[in-house]
Amino acid sequence: TAEPGSPYRVVLLGASGVGKTAFARIFAGAADSMDSDDCELCGDDVCEKEIEVDGEPATITLLDTWEAETGRGCAQEHDMQAGDAYLLLYSVTDRASFLRASELRITLRRFSPAQHTPIILVGNKCDLVRRREVSVSEGRDCAAVFDCKFIETSAAMQHNVWEAFHGMVRQLRLRRDTK
Ligand code: GDP
Repeated sequence: TAEPGSPYRVVLLGASGVGKTAFARIFAGAADSMDSDDCELCGDDVCEKEIEVDGEPATITLLDTWEAETGRGCAQEHDMQAGDAYLLLYSVTDRASFLRASELRITLRRFSPAQHTPIILVGNKCDLVRRREVSVSEGRDCAAVFDCKFIETSAAMQHNVWEAFHGMVRQLRLRRDTK
């Protein structure tokens, strides 16, 4: 749907406590270290900003769906149709959140009419090595089953978070370019 230059709407999905807010903060907070006027509309759950990926600017509108777990069905359905792409988060320290991500993936397929909507399965909190409940290979296998990309991140260590956003933009561009 996005024309070149128009913002990509990226939606953060996942159980509560997996790190969605932390992701959104890192995304929004980069404005501090770069251009302080970069981030417009930085409320609690929407942030729009331009980032550079492979030497080309891309504008991302990030939506944080904090209500996904509390079952506000309408909001959830709305969020599941609102995105050009989805970051589907779970915590590697919380198996229930991993199962929740699978459920959300299935719901997403039902609600999101567009084929090949980019989705990245994100295993967050990989810094918590001793509390890990979900292995890397389980995450990878799940992503393969669900036909989406996979990355492990640590919002706390700021590890791979930007890689996730950049990967998202690359997928969106591929999709745009093959239309
Ligand atoms: P949300 O409910 O999905 O928005 O989750 P939050 O972003 O509020 O994170 C829940 C808790 O997990 C907070 O205390 C965060 O500081 C913590 N947290 C988030 N990401 C990480 C991470 O990568 N590593 C660690 N150790 N803690 C994290």
